[in-house]
Amino acid sequence: MAEDWDVRTRLVQAEADSEEGAPLNTPLVLSTTFRAQPDGVGFSAEDLGDESPYFYARWSTPTVRTLERRLAELEGGEDALCFASGMAAITGLLLHLLGPGDHLVISDVCYAGAAEFVRGKLRRFGVEVSIVDTSDLAQVRAALRPTTRLVYIETPCNPILKLTDVEAVAALAREAGARLAVDATLATPMGLQPLALGADFVIHSLTKYIGGHGDALGGVVVGRRTDLAALRQDSLIHLGAVLSPFPAWLILRSLPTLPQRMASHAATALEVATFLETHPRVHHVLYPGLESHPQAELARRQLRNTSGMIAFQAKDAPAVARRLAERLKVVKYAVSLGKPHSLIFYLPTEDMQRTSFQHPPELLERYRAWAGDGIFRLSIGLEAPRDLIRDLDQALKP
Ligand SMILES: *Cc1c(COP(=O)(O)O)cnc(C)c1O
Repeated sequence: MAEDWDVRTRLVQAEADSEEGAPLNTPLVLSTTFRAQPDGVGFSAEDLGDESPYFYARWSTPTVRTLERRLAELEGGEDALCFASGMAAITGLLLHLLGPGDHLVISDVCYAGAAEFVRGKLRRFGVEVSIVDTSDLAQVRAALRPTTRLVYIETPCNPILKLTDVEAVAALAREAGARLAVDATLATPMGLQPLALGADFVIHSLTKYIGGHGDALGGVVVGRRTDLAALRQDSLIHLGAVLSPFPAWLILRSLPTLPQRMASHAATALEVATFLETHPRVHHVLYPGLESHPQAELARRQLRNTSGMIAFQAKDAPAVARRLAERLKVVKYAVSLGKPHSLIFYLPTEDMQRTSFQHPPELLERYRAWAGDGIFRLSIGLEAPRDLIRDLDQALKP
């Protein structure tokens, strides 16, 4: 592809469309096995080489491979490896990199599934875990040890939209001889390019903005070719949580519209967040694109698109949550994010702490200082800002 093409141009180019009769869209290949040679690829995952032909669908398939190449290109990485879901990408990477005696430093607030997995199962495998507020560089510095193998952050973090300075944490990790993994699902490649800031691995739940249509689960890890070849052999093939060709094909279909969708999500989110900031029933709106975000300077410096996620607190939140679920018409009361539909969900601090986070007192205090007794997580869809604002306004009325 031409080096100087804008990302919008690159995303609509097919892989090999220069021959006469070549399809402009990527074909969907649904085959679980591929013709082999007796002296070709060996039977074990360990025999898999960089240039091996397709062999069995748990190793790799053409449609998924096309998606991997395009996601690597989009992130500015050497290669990418897709998984069946964002969680499969996260657990696959952690189980590959960490073993007994290894030390992990992880953000105190990250995707609930990741927080629960690390706190429970990963510790059971003998991995030492330090859970720290990675938005505070002094905490990261103090947590690093000679045995630290990985620093894991999520920015902006789900659900409270706190940011971590990727460049600064990458420098600290490098000094300590540790790798850095960044879950950038909320930012998307349109907002943040962690590899360019010094990260070793970028993770996305493709289920969210990259898939973007609410009809496919998927996950990806992007990074160096040698790292990902090892991850494929050691983790993906044996854990078996591979992405199937059909969701891969749906996600490929979504890529050309990603820049336009993200521009729309972010512009509408800024309008809705600005409206919520002045609403008498609402207080403490958190949106990285607002000047009032406590890390607005970092957001300006590191996020090229501030995405479509808003978090806010409301007076008498449990009653407001019931009213919103009953009265909202345009916005749907449902979990998840990054869809055409706007979605809202209430996350009480007590519930989040009892189940997902279980923070010790010092971290609990930091969580409460940011999220209060609970936050509404609002994922802005592709609807018109005016309709969303009217819908929220009528539903927030007592
Ligand atoms: C949803 C999400 C995940 C998990 O992705 P799934 O595809 O649902 O497994 C991981 N990280 C973040 C930030 C998410 O929002």
